[in-house]
Amino acid sequence: MAKHPVIGLLGGGQLGRMLQEAASPLNVELAILDAAGSPAKQICENAKHVAGSFNDPAKIRELAARVDVLTVEIEHVNADVLEEIATKGVSVGAGRPLKKVPCHPSWETIRLIQDKYLQKEHFLREGIPVAPQMAVEGDSLTIEALQAVGDKYGFPFMLKARKGSYDGRGNFQVRGPADFDEAIRSMGKLSLYAEKFQPFVKELSVMVVRTEDDDGNLRDVHPYPAVETVHEDSICTKVFLPPRGVQAEACEQACKVASNVIRTLKGRGVYAVEMFVLKDGGIVVNEVAPRPHNSGHLFTEAVPYMSQFKAQLCAILDIFPGKVTLQPRVESAIMLNILGGAEEESHDKLVDIASRSYDTNMDVYIHLYGKASKPGRKIGHITVTSSAANIASLEQLAGSLTKEVDSV
Ligand code: ATP
Ligand code: MG
Ligand code: MG
Repeated sequence: MAKHPVIGLLGGGQLGRMLQEAASPLNVELAILDAAGSPAKQICENAKHVAGSFNDPAKIRELAARVDVLTVEIEHVNADVLEEIATKGVSVGAGRPLKKVPCHPSWETIRLIQDKYLQKEHFLREGIPVAPQMAVEGDSLTIEALQAVGDKYGFPFMLKARKGSYDGRGNFQVRGPADFDEAIRSMGKLSLYAEKFQPFVKELSVMVVRTEDDDGNLRDVHPYPAVETVHEDSICTKVFLPPRGVQAEACEQACKVASNVIRTLKGRGVYAVEMFVLKDGGIVVNEVAPRPHNSGHLFTEAVPYMSQFKAQLCAILDIFPGKVTLQPRVESAIMLNILGGAEEESHDKLVDIASRSYDTNMDVYIHLYGKASKPGRKIGHITVTSSAANIASLEQLAGSLTKEVDSV
């Protein structure tokens, strides 16, 4: 790879913006493919940026021709084009040989993860614990087909879009036969699968850094500590480090499972492994995101020497310190998502309070993404940390801020 490699990034949202924030001190150049004025482009000028969609084959090729390696901030990208560029190459001018540009994570991983059903079939084959699932025909989704799922898995069960879902959009909880009509109406046109409902007591997430040599052989996997994620209406709203009321052994186990999951995938970078913890302490893997993730935001402050974004860059460039332990430098941390409210300015008061917040027992960090506010849209987040308070005490200290977040 070139001495000062240029990383091409598909997607310029908030994850790209925070990747850019980590890239600057390393003097790593990012060329971004997304619309002009996207959150990541707002904070870095670069003649190598490409304006357009991260799903447009021609635009992806244009970006690839300008960079040394490709990465993504979103998994819903065109994996076929990434495969073509990595294996056959991309044109860099008439009469010149095609240039092969690798993608991290691998296009194979991106393709696998895009289809949540195939993703979990893969984990099942690899001996990773996942919820029972079955494919159902979206085009011919019938009451009989839904009843058959109910007979097998009981109610409620989850009906999920195989592709394209995020923040729970693409998920439908079928509580009983009364929901069948609505399920068919809202989901019937999608490619679907059904999943057994998991009566979890906690949701955990573990970010894992995967390093590889130039031949794609696994060097190592490095898990961050497990965090607790809280979802409201299927969207992540809060993250707690360490998880509240979860034994240290269960957290260790979650890190082990997550590391095993990432050993089965291909490509350098950070990955998020979302998991359910059941009443008996059992762990079930929900899904993987092959990129920096909302649940890893608090490591920017909690593990200040290695944010998930720096980890992504270091892994891709193969300069990740192999001995790093990823141990937090704080006792506890909480991440609160700022979601757009009913009005454009619904979150203004919260931002004002969080920006002015000062407390000797708690550090408050605000991150705004430069996005227009829409109801339920992730437009920023707040991280609070404490070097002395445990997670229960920090939750109390952050109580009034949390109340403001909830009221947006
Ligand atoms: P993301 O934004 O994380 O990509 P997504 O749209 O892919 O979300 P999932 O992760 O499948 O959606 O589900 C969102 C949330 O819905 C989960 O975090 C969990 O709270 C709940 N959920 C999903 N599947 C199940 C299940 N089988 N049993 C119980 N709850 C579930
Ligand atoms: Mg998902
Ligand atoms: Mg999820």
